[in-house]
Amino acid sequence: MTDKRLEKFSMGIGDRFGHQGRAQLRAMQAARAEGIEIVPVWNKSFREHSIIGTRPADVRAEADAAVSAMGWKHSYYVDADHINFKNVESFIDCSDFFTLDVAEEIGHPAESKEMEAFVRSCRDFLGTLTIPGIERPFVISEKTLEAAAAKYLFAVQQAGRIYRHLAGKKGTGTFITEVSMDETDSPQTPVELLLILSAIAREGIPAQTIAPKFTGRFNKGVDYVGNLEQFEKEFNEDLAVIAFAVKEFGLPGNLKLSVHSGSDKFSIYGPIRRAIHRFGAGLHLKTAGTTWLEELIGLAEAGGEGLAIAKEVYAKALENRQALCAPYATVIDIDAAQLPAPKVVDQWDGKRFAAALRHNPRCPDYNPHFRQLLHVGYKVAAQMGRRFTDALERFEEEIAKHVSANLLERHIRPVFGKGA
Ligand SMILES: [Zn+2]
Repeated sequence: MTDKRLEKFSMGIGDRFGHQGRAQLRAMQAARAEGIEIVPVWNKSFREHSIIGTRPADVRAEADAAVSAMGWKHSYYVDADHINFKNVESFIDCSDFFTLDVAEEIGHPAESKEMEAFVRSCRDFLGTLTIPGIERPFVISEKTLEAAAAKYLFAVQQAGRIYRHLAGKKGTGTFITEVSMDETDSPQTPVELLLILSAIAREGIPAQTIAPKFTGRFNKGVDYVGNLEQFEKEFNEDLAVIAFAVKEFGLPGNLKLSVHSGSDKFSIYGPIRRAIHRFGAGLHLKTAGTTWLEELIGLAEAGGEGLAIAKEVYAKALENRQALCAPYATVIDIDAAQLPAPKVVDQWDGKRFAAALRHNPRCPDYNPHFRQLLHVGYKVAAQMGRRFTDALERFEEEIAKHVSANLLERHIRPVFGKGA
């Protein structure tokens, strides 16, 4: 059997309640008709499972069912997203993609002997290092190497331990491995990325995707906040670093960046598209949460019971704001003063509710605070139980239309499409 190899373009899609698999596949089928070939990766983290009360096996069942219903003939994957040693067990049987999250281990020093050995192994890079595709040479000192070892070596070793545990249980080559370090405070520079990749290769992790933390803020459900020029420069440099590292360290030839977008980072989509086309690089884009918000938009626009549910989700989310926001503290930025009172929202019709929620920065009714709160408010819908999922079924047609169009028009075309 040949090793599982992730395609050039892939997308981490989401399905909080397991109902939008078909609508998301429909967007990818439409993209294929336009010559944009993407494969889907259903991703759901341990955090999301615990909040909703689903199990990893549910995602596998849902993905299989959607694929067969839609006659999807291409690859698809189920990602154990952001797992670590403590919570990986329940994902092992039903996942074939594992995102090893070692952000928490960043900054824990490794054994000093091992740090010394790592620094020694990187000595060739001392001085000025020129990487094809990057104009400025990097200056790398002994200090640079020591700092990277102190910050990242232990985290990569931890990824190695999880990887070997998985390989022991599932067999080498039977799953895709991603290493993620995005949920941390400080971004990784291109030089740090290079040294992290060197450590990953030394650990023997056949990483096919790597998720660094990029410069700027990636708040949930809303656009990028940060210096666009710097983002574009570093993103291009990261791609050059990856191409270099693949050759230099013998990492898998399809190794690519994984962008954990937190949904809807519209303003960096153009820079990302230009960069991947310029380098002929692949890309994995995770944008799961955007679909749950389209469910709410579809419910609101359906009116009647759909709109009533959408309003209730908001009112309850507002009531439980602190608790809902806590697990996402580092990735949201909500100004409570900008959140409308439930009695104001009660007056809204479906169009007005949808306009406040829909991510259209040009629409004067769009409210990013409202949107972020609802983005993290899915627990409220989960607590509604059958009432919520019955509504998803009853209004499926209206909802699916929004889910597919959102994915195709606002995400797939802008990121993967041909144009300049
Ligand atoms: Zn992430």
